[in-house]
Amino acid sequence: MSLFDLSLIKKYDQSGPRYTSYPTANNFSKFTQIQYEDQVFLSNNKKGPISLYCHIPFCDTVCFYCGCNKIVTKDKTKAKTYLQALFKEIEIQSKLFDTTRQVEQMHFGGGTPTFLSNEQIILLSEKLQSAFKFANDGEYSIEIDPRGVDQNTIKALIKARFNRISLGVQDFNVDVQKAVNRIQRFKQTKTVIRIARENGFKSVSIDLIYGLPRQSVTTFKATLEQVAELRPERISIFNYAHLPELFKPQRRINILELPSADEKLAIFKYSIDFLLAQGYIYIGMDHFALPEDPLAIAQNEGHLYRNFQGYSTHSSCDIVGLGLSSISQVGNSFSQNEKDLESYYQKINIGELPVVKGQTINTDDKLRQLVIMDLICNFELDFGKIERNFAVHFKDYFKDAFELLTQMHNDGLIELTDHSIKVMDKGKLLIRNICMVFDAYLATSKTQFSKTI
Ligand code: SF4
Repeated sequence: MSLFDLSLIKKYDQSGPRYTSYPTANNFSKFTQIQYEDQVFLSNNKKGPISLYCHIPFCDTVCFYCGCNKIVTKDKTKAKTYLQALFKEIEIQSKLFDTTRQVEQMHFGGGTPTFLSNEQIILLSEKLQSAFKFANDGEYSIEIDPRGVDQNTIKALIKARFNRISLGVQDFNVDVQKAVNRIQRFKQTKTVIRIARENGFKSVSIDLIYGLPRQSVTTFKATLEQVAELRPERISIFNYAHLPELFKPQRRINILELPSADEKLAIFKYSIDFLLAQGYIYIGMDHFALPEDPLAIAQNEGHLYRNFQGYSTHSSCDIVGLGLSSISQVGNSFSQNEKDLESYYQKINIGELPVVKGQTINTDDKLRQLVIMDLICNFELDFGKIERNFAVHFKDYFKDAFELLTQMHNDGLIELTDHSIKVMDKGKLLIRNICMVFDAYLATSKTQFSKTI
């Protein structure tokens, strides 16, 4: 399998969305609680399953590469105030949903969810379980920071019903860690994973970043070998996008220490070859999984899905986002909570949902969403499926797209036939570029996106 074609990557060197949603969040505009409630009402008619996302925005130190929405503080009392508001939000939200609908997925993300004490994590999980009906065999995951986690935390996470953990590693090289202000020893991470597995965690996911200061192919090789020793079920390798004008912590990164564009690509190429040789399956974008992992199985069976947390397996769920800045996907809508903590508290304190932005999606959005989802998750698109679902003639509907699609076909990114698109191996890394052909919003977008590779 040859995914990496340097000349094609250079030819299609472009910036673009990561398509964790379509339309992407930069298109959201004013959205009200009433609009949100209308969508919940619509979705209740179908009585489909629910996925809960809880955002914990606090971190006790800042990583210089960070582009997340977080609050850096050592003051743990902030967590108590935040949880009080979050509990009220859970109460308001849960009253809107049909009580027979089951929660099949729960995810705590951040920031750093393990900024909460063990007792607070258990309390939050119990609050959600008393407000919603949980499936017995759901997928319940949490992002942890191994630097602040011990055996007691792992036991608390099990008590809180979590069965999957995700760990930020980025790089095990100490020089790189110093340059990004995140010192996290390999031994520490290894111990946390061992304890998690001993206590029954079914799945471990590790995040890495390439393109960080002081990284080279040589340093990253060592990191990958250490990661392989841990044998996580899932690995993500994100491309570091240096955008200091957008993300303040990045101003503390010395640009002279960043690897060159060619070195960065060499690191990525080495990583892909290494992980494939270790038996991992390339899922798409920056994700790899072991063949027995549900992501790899879902892709094989054609029902992989992508949402705000990346690739996922529960495509039929409505997503209920709780907490600061979290995004919901309910019925035919996306909606996002306040990003400012004080505004979030103010809304909750007067008994309102903190929904502030969003979008009701129309038929054209839905059609393009299905096109992009099939391409990005399954690497193929059957025009007939779109025609059956939306009563359109695919080639007429997308007649402006065919010049670029033909160029991509001639370049070997895709195989374009009269009734389908199949993404070829060397087109898989450029999947964002292929999806962008079908994005109706890009032409007028002023958003600064990251590079597609
Ligand atoms: S990268 Fe994660 S842990 Fe580091 S500051 Fe950002 S949100 Fe916090």
